[in-house]
Amino acid sequence: MRRDYDLFVIGGGSGGVRAARIAAQAGARVALAEEYRMGGTCVIRGCVPKKLMVFASGFPEAMADARAYGWDVRRGRFDWTAFRARLDAELDRLEGVYRGNLEKAGVSIHDARATVAGPNTVRLADGAELSADHILVATGGAPFVPEKWAGLPVMTSNDVFKLDALPKSILIVGGGYIACEFACILNGLGVEVTQYYRGAQILRGFDGEARGHVAELMEEHGVNLHVGTDLISMERAEGGLRVKATDGRERVFDKVMFATGRRPNTDGLGLAEAGVTLGRWGEVVVDAYSRSSVPSIHAVGDVTDRVNLTPVAIREGQAFAETVFGGKDVTADHELVASAVFTRPELGSVGLSEEEARDREPVDVYCTSFRAMHSAFAGRPDRVMMKLVVSQATDKVLGCHIVSDHAGEMIQLAAIALKMGATKADFDRTVAVHPTMSEELVTMRSPVRSG
Ligand code: NDP
Repeated sequence: MRRDYDLFVIGGGSGGVRAARIAAQAGARVALAEEYRMGGTCVIRGCVPKKLMVFASGFPEAMADARAYGWDVRRGRFDWTAFRARLDAELDRLEGVYRGNLEKAGVSIHDARATVAGPNTVRLADGAELSADHILVATGGAPFVPEKWAGLPVMTSNDVFKLDALPKSILIVGGGYIACEFACILNGLGVEVTQYYRGAQILRGFDGEARGHVAELMEEHGVNLHVGTDLISMERAEGGLRVKATDGRERVFDKVMFATGRRPNTDGLGLAEAGVTLGRWGEVVVDAYSRSSVPSIHAVGDVTDRVNLTPVAIREGQAFAETVFGGKDVTADHELVASAVFTRPELGSVGLSEEEARDREPVDVYCTSFRAMHSAFAGRPDRVMMKLVVSQATDKVLGCHIVSDHAGEMIQLAAIALKMGATKADFDRTVAVHPTMSEELVTMRSPVRSG
């Protein structure tokens, strides 16, 4: 029996769109359903609008620097409404590009919620059922708010881009990527930011020294960061929400934003009923080929809760489509994935943290901290941190961690070297580019610690 489609993709985000396009280009008859806006989290309410807000939030510092460099500039007022209108227009444009690319590839688009009605059947919101040889679940994730607070008018990162006006004060709960990035963004835009993190140091999982460095600089930049602090109670109050914290403090904040992690979007999708094994948080359990426990159903991206980053979802989508429709045998490589946290300053990281490396083998640690030329001249207290974690046995660089302006750009290039298996000797024989910040990566001569 010929089914309606060779492939039905549920979810129009980075992973789903890439898979649909590659499969269609390989000659498959492909449909894609998206219930909200084409582009998914990355384009509509994640990486892209976030990065544009990072840029917007950097201007006060840039203007202060400009004055230090002799320019007669005065700091004006930030017009959120004007910025948001431009942001909305840019997101509309990008959404159009995503939709256009799917159309060009010949993918049939359904602007509707789709659920799984069986191993080869998808049901659209209007009840229509469509059959497909393969179903790809690429529904991403959604912000998670602890149940205790869910009934209160709290925000998540989804709501930031839709604010009518910036609040005067905000409490951000959490210590991960999203909490730290928005703490810095909103602080830069002039909001009084308090951040509560329940653990001992923000950015769990990253290199310890780098975490400490970021935390210190965030505080120096004006974020009221409180680690080892959680919420006890919260209630509506005049002008916002009254929050009682575990450190005994009680305060009213205009807004409270939860950045307490994200959960895979599988609720009500019909996956368990179709026989698909789900994990503890509802994630689709898949093998290296992104295949679920039902052979005709695959899943890519955040819904599988592997490495929750856009470029990884794209690789997974591409590998799936090339394998199933392109006659190749490809799996996505989850090793040595670099990432950047767009705090101010940024943290770029690839490979093992010092702590992880030390647990595995004896290492030499090269680390330097210095005031960069640009900010030192401007009189800013920022200090750059660069760190290499090196195997004593093989001289291979196991981890590279950078805290500085543009660390995201630098770590991308360091990641190529690490992926190629570069040794410390390879770094050392690379001639420095002078004067730059990144030249320190090739001029660190003696380890600060060994063992
Ligand atoms: P993370 O998992 O990074 O952080 C969640 C934070 O919330 C942690 O600090 C966690 O604390 C805390 N938390 C969890 N549950 C509770 C609770 N019940 N009460 C109080 N605190 C809690 O999630 P994010 O939402 O920040 O980001 C989600 C993912 O999105 C990231 O893992 C990343 O993969 C991706 N992302 C990537 C970005 C980038 O590449 N620049 C930017 C934004 C997101 P604890 O550490 O104690 O568990």
